[in-house]
Amino acid sequence: MSSAEVLRRCHDRLAELEKAGLQIPDPFDAVELADRAGRCLGHRIRLCGIDMPAGAPYGLTLFTTDGGHIVAYERSTNRLHRDHIISHELGHILLGHEPMPIDDPDAAKLVFPRLSPELVSRVLNRNGTYGKLEELEAETMATILMERVSQVPDEPELPGQTVEDAAIAARFSKLFERPR
Ligand SMILES: [Zn+2]
Repeated sequence: MSSAEVLRRCHDRLAELEKAGLQIPDPFDAVELADRAGRCLGHRIRLCGIDMPAGAPYGLTLFTTDGGHIVAYERSTNRLHRDHIISHELGHILLGHEPMPIDDPDAAKLVFPRLSPELVSRVLNRNGTYGKLEELEAETMATILMERVSQVPDEPELPGQTVEDAAIAARFSKLFERPR
């Protein structure tokens, strides 16, 4: 699948979700987005900020017995990075990715001791790693989600400014607006 196809798939899926009532918080807030995404999908998405162990990824999506998800994320980081980590995991969830199960002690198990027993009891035994395509899709979705609200839909583009320039400019202006 080409990156253009990945981009299209992410945009199509987001359009579908927005039709179903999902509104991306403006200004962007990944914590609020997780809550809204859960309501839109009809299952709970819990966020769990923890100190991720060395060697673990910054974020991890766990599947729960009630059909929901727990997104564990590195809490010792700045707001922009946190929003990015959570958005990436939400990308997996919104796109309906199923992880490939792995038998070896995986990152999820490393994280377990740091989650509350109440949450661990809800974790299904089918957590694993995502494939390369899924990672690309989740990352693309995260970028779209975080850039979405900085775009003004009906405003014509400035003459001489390419779409890419506008996207970069928007990303920079958001960086400076955001509390650290
Ligand atoms: Zn991922």
